[in-house]
Amino acid sequence: MHHFRYVRGKLYCEGVSVESLIKKHGSPLYVYSQKTLTEHFSKLDQALAPLDHMICYAMKANSNLAVMRTLANLGSGFDVVSEGELRRVIAAGGNPKKCVFAGVGKTEQEIEFALRKGIYSFNVESEPELIRINKVAARLKKIAPVAVRVNPNVDAGTHAKITTGTYENKFGIQFEQVEDVYARASKLKNIWLRGIQMHIGSQLTDVKPFESAVKKILPLVQKLTAKYKFEFFSIGGGLGIVYKPALASGSAEWWKTTDAKDILTPSLYAERLVPQLKALGLKILIEPGRFIAGNAGILVTRVEYVKQTGKKNFVIVDAAMNDLIRPAFYDSYHEIVPLNQKNGATVSSDVVGPICESGDTFCKDRPLPRVGEGDYLALLSAGAYGFVMASNYNSRGTVAEVLVNGNKAAVVRARQPVQEIWKTEKIPAWL
Ligand SMILES: *Cc1c(COP(=O)(O)O)cnc(C)c1O
Repeated sequence: MHHFRYVRGKLYCEGVSVESLIKKHGSPLYVYSQKTLTEHFSKLDQALAPLDHMICYAMKANSNLAVMRTLANLGSGFDVVSEGELRRVIAAGGNPKKCVFAGVGKTEQEIEFALRKGIYSFNVESEPELIRINKVAARLKKIAPVAVRVNPNVDAGTHAKITTGTYENKFGIQFEQVEDVYARASKLKNIWLRGIQMHIGSQLTDVKPFESAVKKILPLVQKLTAKYKFEFFSIGGGLGIVYKPALASGSAEWWKTTDAKDILTPSLYAERLVPQLKALGLKILIEPGRFIAGNAGILVTRVEYVKQTGKKNFVIVDAAMNDLIRPAFYDSYHEIVPLNQKNGATVSSDVVGPICESGDTFCKDRPLPRVGEGDYLALLSAGAYGFVMASNYNSRGTVAEVLVNGNKAAVVRARQPVQEIWKTEKIPAWL
């Protein structure tokens, strides 16, 4: 479910017409719906209500300060993967004590910063990392709370680049080795074995891989909890969203299909997992990123040219892979709809950006309404892993971001002036 829909043939974000935002702030433009963010958080929070739980939003999905503040105000914690992200939590008014720190490559400096800020837990991905955390904690005369990330070797059945829970991946510690790792960790003086964690992948639209992973590691969690008095179990993130609605894009009520039965809703997730998790008697952490932010954002772009070759109808737009890399990177599908609803026949089209890469393609041979120069298109479900992956490739400045709340809208990131792109570059004296 989200709050982008047609009102009298014009695309709206909540109570604001997207066209009015484009007129004011230019194109391309990311537009986020605060109500959608809030509802996603609350649905999950309510579904998990029978458990003592904490939602740690995986901020790598969308870390704009306004998005972060929205979630911090709802009581969210955060899953961070770098010192920069933890600093962002603080800048947004979030609570470091509700943060978990994930990632396979934490540096000494990052560990020190996180320890000083009193984070809830380090999610540890290797034994050398445990030893390093212990060393840094000893130097600071602190006790570091940690959880070992278990790799349950369960295939999430999702895209290869977002599967993390099999032994082909760099993540976590192999299921069979976890007990020994905890035994050795328990001898480290500045380590507090606070819990245990897993994360099997992203964009899971089926509850079964979660069920299998939980079922597989539950006995281990119980055994280790008895031994080390764990406080929490983190089930990770990975809840998928609808990218491709069942109803045709642009049809009157397409957005309703984001509540379709075949998607992993918070209630189905809870129905299958809460009973198993409740039996543990532990605090349960969940680290959703995409589920919260994915359908809460769109990328709006202007049609610059339509180029017809013998075979193809190329719609050349002003957004590119540097603004939204998911189609190029993960072959992902984004629904594309015009800002002004069109009722005529569709044309098989390739929507492409201006960058000199064949990968700079948002869709291929897709039936889309006929559009022309000066029309605007919206790429839907661009709220997660969208702006955060933007780059300056081709010396293109990063685009602006707007947050909508009811009838109000605010720029939450200004468009980057191109001169800023090379501001920190220097030409050596010998040139
Ligand atoms: C990326 C990541 C998440 C969030 O994944 P989503 O699919 O966006 O929910 C959660 N936990 C860890 C450890 C991650 O790396």
